Amino acid sequence: MTTETLDHWIAGATNPGTSTRTAPVHDPALGVVTKQVRLASAADVDTAVAAATAAFADWGRSSIARRQQVLFKFRELLNARSGELAEILTSEHGKVLSDAAGEIARGLEVVEFACGMPHLAKGSYSLGVSTDVDVYSLREPIGVVGVITPFNFPAMVPLWFLPIAIATGNCVVLKPSEKDPSSSNWLAELFHEAGLPAGVLNVVHGDKEAVDALLTHDDIASISFVGSTPIARYIYETGTAHGKRVQALGGAKNHMLVLPDADLDLVADSAVNAGFGSAGERCMAISVVVAVEPIADDLIAKISDRMGKLVTGDGRRSCDMGPLITREHRDKVAGYLDVAEADGATVVVDGREVEVDGAAEGFWLGPTLLDKVPTTSTVYTDEIFGPVLSVVRVASYEDGVELVNSGPYGNGTAIFTNDGGAARRFVLDVEVGMVGVNVPIPVPVAYHSFGGWKASLFGDAKAYGPQGVDFFTREKAVTSRWLDPSHGGINLGFPQNS
Ligand code: NAD
Repeated sequence: MTTETLDHWIAGATNPGTSTRTAPVHDPALGVVTKQVRLASAADVDTAVAAATAAFADWGRSSIARRQQVLFKFRELLNARSGELAEILTSEHGKVLSDAAGEIARGLEVVEFACGMPHLAKGSYSLGVSTDVDVYSLREPIGVVGVITPFNFPAMVPLWFLPIAIATGNCVVLKPSEKDPSSSNWLAELFHEAGLPAGVLNVVHGDKEAVDALLTHDDIASISFVGSTPIARYIYETGTAHGKRVQALGGAKNHMLVLPDADLDLVADSAVNAGFGSAGERCMAISVVVAVEPIADDLIAKISDRMGKLVTGDGRRSCDMGPLITREHRDKVAGYLDVAEADGATVVVDGREVEVDGAAEGFWLGPTLLDKVPTTSTVYTDEIFGPVLSVVRVASYEDGVELVNSGPYGNGTAIFTNDGGAARRFVLDVEVGMVGVNVPIPVPVAYHSFGGWKASLFGDAKAYGPQGVDFFTREKAVTSRWLDPSHGGINLGFPQNS
């Protein structure tokens, strides 16, 4: 029996809102409900947007130096207290503590990038574009921005957006996943401690009702969304129909193309790390190994040998892989193993038989390896989002690239080869937004931007990096003339430079 209920964070304080609806939050390694989270009504969203709108009057006009000082302080605090945050992530998401620490480190990169905002958001100046006329462009914040995030990176994905939005002078309403919501309150409190004025960052917990209220709210300027493709498409269509700037990052099905000349030990290590890290619940996880024959048998032997040494269990112990996020999701992923068998794939390693270092009630499924997966099977076509790695065998590089390009998603991909020319050709041939060459999870550093192609990103701005700065600002171009006594005269023609 649990009594704790997680409130919203509005105007610098916890706020229970008016809705009586809640959802359970689990510890996935224990299989128990640890708290309830409030599910906001549209009126609760209104309260948060009003707090952000009120704060924008001051924050939007505040000096760059003032904003930068908050970011620097936030970075110091996050560095010092990242262990606390990692424990929250592991207790609600299930990922092992070292992986939680890695997620925080990648979020910190964006904070550090945003500390450089005075340089990044600089405008430009053209002196004397015409006689006595100068033109300069400057970047202004866009207002109150909505950020809606998924369960799989409860700290890193909010940190893709918050530091840049805040450093550029916007105010934020964050709606995190209701499955692991506590880290968002923790981050908001840390920003508060770092000196962020009340109302600049608000956290509203909820489900579709809260999301719809944000998408249609007159005072929300933009929506940044990360989640599954069907919801991303809905967010993009609804948000833009309501006049908002929208970036909606969707799902993925990432392929690793392995050429016969590749170093198969490196490939096997990479496939295991990228396939089973965070129990495969990463949008950049590798879920399909495309092996160009004749290497498949050797590669599968090396991968399954490594899988035999993985320990699945409670992320607070020294395990390699934790549980899945909910029992329903665990059962859905396990259901794909039945489908694989029915569709004629070979189950090389069966995660249903895993021995676990953790509580019996946890949401466990061990690392699973499937061979000869038919590309018509839903095991191949669906984003499974679990520890299931499929091998598809092809005869040539061309067949492999065609397979990678034939899917609906275009988030991440990798090629493994020792042939520089083949790798270069792949980089140009492949229709995917983030490409690795002998790197299995090519998540760009914070000063490049993150985002896929096709059904992995709706809208034209990727997350963070230069595109993040563009997304959270709007440019104003000013043409100014300081009068010279010699000027004058009427001229109705279109302005020309002279
Ligand atoms: P999800 O789409 O179920 O949920 C994402 C957010 O949308 C959550 O805040 C949720 O509350 C909200 N939501 C859920 N259903 C909704 C509905 N019907 N209407 C409005 N809002 C709704 O995604 P998830 O299961 O939390 O996360 C996993 C998915 O996110 C995977 O598909 C993964 O690939 C994707 N993802 C993509 C990226 C990327 O950068 N492309 C990064 C991380 C995760």
